[in-house]
Amino acid sequence: MKTLLLFVVAFFAYLLVRFIMKRVNEIRQDALSGNAQEHRTTPEEAERMVTCAECGLRLPESEAIPLDPSETIGTAHNIAFCSQEHKQQYLKKHS
Ligand SMILES: [Zn+2]
Repeated sequence: MKTLLLFVVAFFAYLLVRFIMKRVNEIRQDALSGNAQEHRTTPEEAERMVTCAECGLRLPESEAIPLDPSETIGTAHNIAFCSQEHKQQYLKKHS
C-alpha cells in the first residue's frame, strides 16, 4: 500500500512538473511574440504621450492622429487627436 501511495505521489509530481514546464514555455513564447508586437502596437514607457485636443485623452504619439500641416490653425501646432471623429469635431469648432 505504501508503494502504491508513493507511486501515485510520484505520478502527480511528474504531471505537475510537466504542467509547469508547459506553462513556462508558453509564457516564454508569449513574451517573445509579445515583445515583437509591442514594438509596433503598444506604447513603450519611453514613448512620448500626447493629449487629444478634443477630449483630453492621453495617448502615445504613434497612436494619435496628428493635425495635417495644411489644417494647422493659427499658431496651434503639436495638436493630436485620439480619433478621426475628434479631429473633425475640433476642426469644426476652430475654423
Ligand atoms: Zn479625443
